[in-house]
Amino acid sequence: MIESVPPATVEAMTSPTGGTALDILRSVFGYDEFRGDQAAIVDHVARGGDAVVLMPTGGGKSLCYQIPTLMREGTGVVVSPLIALMHDQVQALHAVGVRAAYLNSTQTLDERREVERAYVSGELDILYVAPERLSVESTRSLLDRGTIALFAIDEAHCVSQWGHDFRPDYLALSELAERWPDVPRIALTATATEATHREITERLSLGRAEHFVASFDRPNIQYRIVPKRSVRDQLVEFIRAEGADSAGIVYALSRKTVERTAEHLTQHGIPALPYHAGLDAATRAATQSRFLREEGLVVVATIAFGMGIDKPDVRFVAHIDLPKSVEGYYQETGRAGRDGEPSVAWLAYGLQDVVQQRRMIDDSDADIAHKRRAAAHLDAMLALCETVQCRRVNLLRYFGQTSEPCGNCDTCLEPPAVVDGTVAAQKLLSTVVRLDRERGQRFGAGHLIDILRGKQTPRTTQHGHDALSTWGIGADLSEQAWRGIVRQLLAQGLLASRGEYGVLGITQASGDVLRGERTVQLRQESERTPRVRKTKSSALSELDPASVELFERLRSWRAEQAREQGVPAYVVFSDATLRGIATSKPNTSAELSGVSGVGAAKLERFGAAVLEVVRDHAVRGA
Ligand code: ADP
Ligand code: ZN
Repeated sequence: MIESVPPATVEAMTSPTGGTALDILRSVFGYDEFRGDQAAIVDHVARGGDAVVLMPTGGGKSLCYQIPTLMREGTGVVVSPLIALMHDQVQALHAVGVRAAYLNSTQTLDERREVERAYVSGELDILYVAPERLSVESTRSLLDRGTIALFAIDEAHCVSQWGHDFRPDYLALSELAERWPDVPRIALTATATEATHREITERLSLGRAEHFVASFDRPNIQYRIVPKRSVRDQLVEFIRAEGADSAGIVYALSRKTVERTAEHLTQHGIPALPYHAGLDAATRAATQSRFLREEGLVVVATIAFGMGIDKPDVRFVAHIDLPKSVEGYYQETGRAGRDGEPSVAWLAYGLQDVVQQRRMIDDSDADIAHKRRAAAHLDAMLALCETVQCRRVNLLRYFGQTSEPCGNCDTCLEPPAVVDGTVAAQKLLSTVVRLDRERGQRFGAGHLIDILRGKQTPRTTQHGHDALSTWGIGADLSEQAWRGIVRQLLAQGLLASRGEYGVLGITQASGDVLRGERTVQLRQESERTPRVRKTKSSALSELDPASVELFERLRSWRAEQAREQGVPAYVVFSDATLRGIATSKPNTSAELSGVSGVGAAKLERFGAAVLEVVRDHAVRGA
């Protein structure tokens, strides 16, 4: 295992420098063509230009600085806050024959010295550096002793004010421009909002940069949002339907929910581990490392599990609590399917989520402006949940991008029936008005629904609510259906939820409904659990039956390789590459090198073994 590039390793690898961008893409990385803006970005930076790159997760940002680095003289310095990842990133580069190393706080003095020596002697193509290292003079003067090919500033949104722990170190990066005015700089992020874009440009002094803004669509992710019933069972059902042994992340808001859910999954035969800030650092690191290396492990986590999850083959991201904002939701779901393979983003949410989050906003000590912002974020999230239109259109519009209905989200695949809910809304709102008259009383949604359905409870009797004129007028609908209606009215601003107990009140707009001046459209929710559909084409179903077995054999071969070398499976070959091999069944080294993802270094290292697996499979027959 190569940690900090011992001298022998550095010398053993030859730099692939020299050659056109396309040559390098093909020979080093084994890919046929650039994607999207990659070619333009590589060309611009290789010529010495600055660039700001906004590209969604999985879009292929790494090549945008790796290839220009290999085309220019010297070492590319990559600033990344994700220390836990540097090791894997460096290994992935070694696997394709690029001379890479990193400098961060996890190294011993000796290891660091060796990396510094290699850098100064020009033996490194790429050097990863933690941001806090770059703000100290000793690192800067070290960099002066070698040749810097370019600076790449990854996760550049860390400079933004909503950002991160790393913000001060990132702000200091603006000094790079003064100290090394001739070295091109490329800032990259997957955060799409215009405000962040502007801040990156200003704060990193990228006034002369060219801007490359990719579409933020992630077409391989299928978005699904379902009403919450018995969420842990729904989750088990969802995971089973998506195919066992897929890696996935389940997000929940509280530590307690995280713990309980991980336990529930494990009890139901789904390997799962909890992850939250209350666990000690060693446990968290071990969980993260297992998640990156193993296949088919589910991590149930609070949002503390996020930055640094660079695993390309996460097949699903599930939310069992409502995220606080669309930005957060999009970033979290974006961790699915970085490899471009079909993946699912699944969210279950219910009335309780809405009530609870409104309460959290009301109760927080934040100032008014902050509360307003939080409320606006929640409203946007609710609008996404309740939309009867394409989820993706809604999401992309939020980021200022227009699009057509996608055909790969739940509302596109199974358009919900829209019903006229005016009468139901009137029944509900007039009950709210009547209860509102009983000042000082606190009645939440549950009590309201009991009245509508005419369900006797100690509370309804105690308050004499069975005498209300609206008693029992909603008996035609189930409790579940009424909960859905309350939720949608909240989302449409026709109901307000206030205070500690989620007391429901009317809004200005409710008056129009009560007076019959406004109609209400509702999304009809089926009472049964909706049919869970498999992702349109899982990795396996795209293969013809004859190739499936070979694919599985290649997978076990890969697992063995990865174990032996102590690297994640994808560092050996990606799923897409294994599928390419399983389909084309190459007989020769030349044929194998034609498969996407097989570059010169991997061909030399693994070629014979892979051809052996293919041959063996052919001989023994499928
Ligand atoms: P990002 O950093 O934008 O999330 P990565 O750089 O990790 O994305 O790339 C995502 C995946 O796509 C990786 O597995 C990468 O090897 C692959 N990839 C990137 N560019 C290409 C390309 N031009 N052709 C094929 N695969 C690519
Ligand atoms: Zn859609």
